[in-house]
Amino acid sequence: MRRTLVAGNWKMFGSRALLAEVIGALRDVAGEASKVAEVALCPPFPLLAPAAELLAGSGIGLGAQNLHAAAQGAHTGEVSGAMLREAGCRYVIVGHSERRRDCAESDALVAEKAAAALREGLCPIVCVGEDAGERAAGRQFAVVERQLAAVGERLGAEGLAACVLAYEPVWAIGTGHTATPAQAQEIHAFLRARLGERDATMAAGVRILYGGSVKADNARELFAQPDIDGALVGGASLSGHDFAAICTAAEGKRWNN
Ligand code: PEP
Repeated sequence: MRRTLVAGNWKMFGSRALLAEVIGALRDVAGEASKVAEVALCPPFPLLAPAAELLAGSGIGLGAQNLHAAAQGAHTGEVSGAMLREAGCRYVIVGHSERRRDCAESDALVAEKAAAALREGLCPIVCVGEDAGERAAGRQFAVVERQLAAVGERLGAEGLAACVLAYEPVWAIGTGHTATPAQAQEIHAFLRARLGERDATMAAGVRILYGGSVKADNARELFAQPDIDGALVGGASLSGHDFAAICTAAEGKRWNN
């Protein structure tokens, strides 16, 4: 059974005031949405503690946007999985394309970060996705296969079973150019088939989110696809009204077997 997950990635945006607004709006719908969907919010590190307070008792999950691969050490400016767990996180995003680009994070490092998250009992949301040039060259399947394989080789089927995947085509992130439901479904089915080569039961259980300009008006159609198990939402998660509407759209998605 795959429970739909809608996770908000605030990137380097937000404030305490915005937290109060968005969490207020989510609390209004999450009770209903939680019958079928799970909701999580991933704000920047300094907002984790106030978010944890505001989310207490809500059933809405808290997530971070990054962690260091090491358990601890002399890594100025970095944050460990244990720190995130202590701050109340359930999730942590790894391999977001903005970090792969800005911080030159390799497939191998992303896999190490996913392993570090699992060691601390966090659920990694592992992002994969091709850029515009790669899609234009017809390489989208090869790119996501390579990114997924690195994580699979590091974690094995058991580790993958404890992850959430997010297909985020780079050309769709923050551009307003959402992948069509058919384009997204094609890649999601491909990813699930690759997982299935390792273990059919694991593949049937892993949630694969779509991310890339998900809005209230396109969410329902995306969620209607059989292999789309929710969304990783950037810009629209910065509005309580819009994020709540996406969460409500996820209510239309029934639990998948
Ligand atoms: C993201 O940041 O993961 C994302 C999908 O952003 P947006 O929804 O703004 O495209």
